[in-house]
Amino acid sequence: TIEILVDSINYKYSNGNQAIVDASFKLKEGIICALVGPNGGGKSTLFKSLMGFVTPYSGNISFNGLSVQQALKQNYIAYVPQTEEVDWDFPILVKDVVMMGRYCKMNFLRIPSKHDIEIVEQALDLVGLSQYKTRQIGELSGGQKKRVFLARALAQEGQVLMLDEPFTGVDVQTENAIIELLQQLKKQGALILIATHNLGSVPEFCDEVVLFNRTVISFGTIGTTFTEEN
Ligand code: ADP
Ligand code: ADP
Repeated sequence: TIEILVDSINYKYSNGNQAIVDASFKLKEGIICALVGPNGGGKSTLFKSLMGFVTPYSGNISFNGLSVQQALKQNYIAYVPQTEEVDWDFPILVKDVVMMGRYCKMNFLRIPSKHDIEIVEQALDLVGLSQYKTRQIGELSGGQKKRVFLARALAQEGQVLMLDEPFTGVDVQTENAIIELLQQLKKQGALILIATHNLGSVPEFCDEVVLFNRTVISFGTIGTTFTEEN
């Protein structure tokens, strides 16, 4: 089992920008949760806090009672960024990007095993990019890159999957394929957290919703959250 507990966290950027104000919520495994809020509402900052990139100045985050750093070490958390800068001058192949997810899991660096390679191929297959595995990541479209990062997260086999705006720049067919994939992972007991500014596509496949604008505006199942709103 897995439980994420966010307890009264506050975060302020060095320029004084208070991106998170007294935010609290609790999530359990086997669900897909949407983190919905306007641009600039602090969703990315909340994700950064859950990933340990930034540390709230007060409050507490725990994963099954573990601190963020401990959870990262135990490979609980896989993250799909909104975008990731690709240095066009540095040729790196799609399959090598996905292999990074395996390196993340390793306690010490080693040459990938046959099993690692199989997992990478499976992950690429699941996101529909098998035929691109020996292409350079820089040559791919934005939506394809996003799927590569999703494959990297899948290869990591974490129990918590966090996706930042996974459907931006992705066509409808791919979006449906990703949703189906997420639903499968959920059935296998994953905890999936999706940040989006787009309420539109949320209700159909998310079990819970955190409405977030610097703090938790409301939290609950789709029915209750959206009924309260209307
Ligand atoms: P501040 O404005 O308070 O310095 P930043 O977000 O600029 O906050 O950075 C805080 C720290 O988190 C920095 O050490 C930065 O390198 C790191 N950081 C921020 N975003 C990321 C990210 N996406 N991946 C890794 N590290 C990050
Ligand atoms: P969202 O992901 O919901 O669009 P962000 O977490 O990116 O929101 O931003 C929340 C607030 O924090 C915004 O006001 C934004 O301008 C500010 N912010 C984000 N990153 C930084 C940064 N590195 N330094 C200063 N302010 C930042």
